Amino acid sequence: MSKSKSHERRTRVLVVEDEESFIEALTIGLDREGFDATIARDGQEALAMFEEGRFDVILLDLMLPKLSGLDVCRSVRAASDVPIIIVSAKGEEVDMVLMLEVGADDYVTKPYRLRELVARIRAVLRRRESPAAYEESDVLAFGSLRMELDARRCFVNDVEVKLRKKEFALLRLLLENPGRVLTRDVLIDRVWGSDYVGDTKTLDVHIKRLRSLIEEDPKKPELISTVRGVGYRFEVTKPSA
Ligand code: CA
Repeated sequence: MSKSKSHERRTRVLVVEDEESFIEALTIGLDREGFDATIARDGQEALAMFEEGRFDVILLDLMLPKLSGLDVCRSVRAASDVPIIIVSAKGEEVDMVLMLEVGADDYVTKPYRLRELVARIRAVLRRRESPAAYEESDVLAFGSLRMELDARRCFVNDVEVKLRKKEFALLRLLLENPGRVLTRDVLIDRVWGSDYVGDTKTLDVHIKRLRSLIEEDPKKPELISTVRGVGYRFEVTKPSA
């Protein structure tokens, strides 16, 4: 293992957290993973630090002294599109849909594994670097998956899979937002239109069929994951074995 190359700028993470035990573990863990962590211990401090420094990603605890994570998220988002990952405690009453609406990119629940957190951080950063997983003229691709947008064709390992119109639109939307949780409302709205009044099961049926076509094992989906109670996410980080 070589030390990180000195010319490579370390990724700066603003960690907004008020629990000392987490702060310590995070600072050490993130440093080991090649991140520079700056700590803010309450909501006001978080906003002050955000205004002073330049950060690549913000890790934002929800329950904070002075200003809630929700308020911090809203304020930061009004000024910047820096990726924000919400951290909530298990059992906390959290409206994930609201979180995403005020501009959070993703979230993790405490207690989490550092590996999971780092994967989430890398995923939001990768998304910011290239908004589409891989874009070349009218092609959208990730891993074994390739979509030819104009021709409306989809390939898995170079073998064409026939998608219906809505399935194509749904997969495209997911692939255009790699690593991002898309709420059921957003998906239905964007694929079926805001005046759609049908059964929301329709979305699940479409997802199920997409999985049967693009997933290696549709019963254990690795590309389109379900975010319970919220929506779906196209995974850019394969769970490591
Ligand atoms: Ca807290």
